[in-house]
Amino acid sequence: MAEGLQSIKLRDIHITDPLFGSYSKLVSEKIIPYQWEILNDRVENAAPTYCIQNFRIAAGEMQGERKGVVFQDTDLYKWIEAVAYCIENGSGARFEEIADEVIELIARAQQVDGYLNTYFTVTAPQKRWTNLVEGHELYCAGHLIEAAVAYYNATGKTSLLDTAKKYADLICDVFGRGDEQIHGYPGHQEIELALIKLYRITRKRCYLECAKYFIEERGSEPNYFDEEIKKRGGSEFFHEFDNYDLKYSQSHIPPIQQRTAEGHAVRAMYMFSAMADLALELEDDSMMEACQAVWSNITKKRMYITGSIGSSGVLERFTADYDLPNRTNYSETCASIGLMMFGQRMTSITKNAEYYDTVELALYNTVLAGIGMTGDRYFYVNPLEVVPDFCTDHSYMMHVKPERQRWFSVACCPPNLARTLASLGQYIYARDKEGIYINQFISSTAELEVENRKIQINLESGLLQDGKVRLSVYLPEAVPFMVKIRIPKYAGHLKLRRNGLKTECREEKGYALFSEFDSGENLIELDFDIKPRWVGANDWVRDDEGKMALVKGPCVYCLEEVDNGENLGAIYVDPKTLLEEGKPIDELFGNLSTIRYHGTRLANVGIGEDELYGELLLQETNISLMAIPYCHWNNRENGEMLVWQKMYLGR
Ligand SMILES: [Zn+2]
Repeated sequence: MAEGLQSIKLRDIHITDPLFGSYSKLVSEKIIPYQWEILNDRVENAAPTYCIQNFRIAAGEMQGERKGVVFQDTDLYKWIEAVAYCIENGSGARFEEIADEVIELIARAQQVDGYLNTYFTVTAPQKRWTNLVEGHELYCAGHLIEAAVAYYNATGKTSLLDTAKKYADLICDVFGRGDEQIHGYPGHQEIELALIKLYRITRKRCYLECAKYFIEERGSEPNYFDEEIKKRGGSEFFHEFDNYDLKYSQSHIPPIQQRTAEGHAVRAMYMFSAMADLALELEDDSMMEACQAVWSNITKKRMYITGSIGSSGVLERFTADYDLPNRTNYSETCASIGLMMFGQRMTSITKNAEYYDTVELALYNTVLAGIGMTGDRYFYVNPLEVVPDFCTDHSYMMHVKPERQRWFSVACCPPNLARTLASLGQYIYARDKEGIYINQFISSTAELEVENRKIQINLESGLLQDGKVRLSVYLPEAVPFMVKIRIPKYAGHLKLRRNGLKTECREEKGYALFSEFDSGENLIELDFDIKPRWVGANDWVRDDEGKMALVKGPCVYCLEEVDNGENLGAIYVDPKTLLEEGKPIDELFGNLSTIRYHGTRLANVGIGEDELYGELLLQETNISLMAIPYCHWNNRENGEMLVWQKMYLGR
């Protein structure tokens, strides 16, 4: 097997960053306790989840009807996974007892043969495995397995792992190419990457084979989903699945033949993440080729500047190249998390840093925007332009919410955010035999062992402030060791110092390489040129024509009504306007500067107040503007928000 990058254990990483440290603190202090209350239906004014109740009913410990969406079980699994990462990173000890108890409940809800799903156990036991398109059984199993692996890694306890293995063994028996087996695959991918995780800790080959089977079988002829739908004669759980488009679940052709990102964005990201894992485990070039082609299609033609994906509000999916509307898009928080997962794996295989530019965009913008600073409000959909009055229910805008919500009836995003923020360390550092990789500039400390000696890393990042990053590498004695630091595309002319002296260094696959460390402290200083700047879009992105977006390093900035007044669409900005960094807003995390500049407000004064159209008579007013990081929008007041601003080119 080829050797990819390894993660550094979360227990050996400590995040000290003012921005990300605030969010990771939020996970243990607010998000996990809040979500536990939610799972138990104890939060007023939040949609009930019935989640814990469903497990009690499935375990035979409570009477009643099982309620909630068919994949409701996953909310609990992702919650446990987040708890596991908190236990591992040292912030979650107080949740361990609750987690242990609920893990026992899950085990009691498991059937004798290993099957575990509250919907099919309670509501429709005769329908097990009959609706793979909509039933989400394998998707739920995948999240159970991921939680089990994380909890085992964090605590060494095997109870949840035993439950997951028992279920995974059943799945390996039920699905496959044998005459007695079901020749199907999941309607929502997830189990594939989970089975690979399970394989990696158990080394049981059947889990890897089963993941490979699910990928290879998908989209082959005769198409399993086509046949299944014909037999059923229509949709069972989701009316939007009538006239099912096979592209929706990437089952139109075998995944290794796919070259463009199609269908539901989260499904696609989970699938390609698994394919990247398989490409590594099996040294399978055809899997890798598909991953590279799709990655390229996404990042060059189908991704927002905020690192979000899924242009269509209908079916949460990819559409066509350059179709990137800013107000009606879906851009699900989970899809950006999936993009981070995919990118991390691509770097892990290729040891090429470039994928992390996209991971970083997704993380700093869409993923952080997905959660409010109180920890109990979330965005599912992440538009780049909002006019609250236009976000009308029962219309083409019904998916867009102008303010973060307490919870959702389909609540994949909040617990997905929790598990991602709790395991952030894995996106900062990685290692291989040669040494350590610094993939993100998030202030933190890390410890790793090389030749039985503990090496200490202290990363102090001013990336989002003055662009200066200071890395201290402490070796108890000199050992052969390499530090590879990602050079992001936006770095500009990078200035380097080593132990206080100007230096140059070798670059390889997007990393600056440093070696030959002395015993004791070694200092590497990087100075990124990350002044605020305007960026434009490819001419084919019709929705951004004549517009520009303000960025600083990986952070996209936006205008909000609270700072700039109503009708942000009437604002025009000269691209040559002076951009000045202003004082951060105290109540927003991370001490990130605001950006101040001048613009012009254009008004048509030829029209009377009660007229819709009329003579064109323009009046220009010079105005002062203030932009804030996109990730922070809607944390102070509700109102309009705008990323892409109109260019004023003079007359
Ligand atoms: Zn989601």
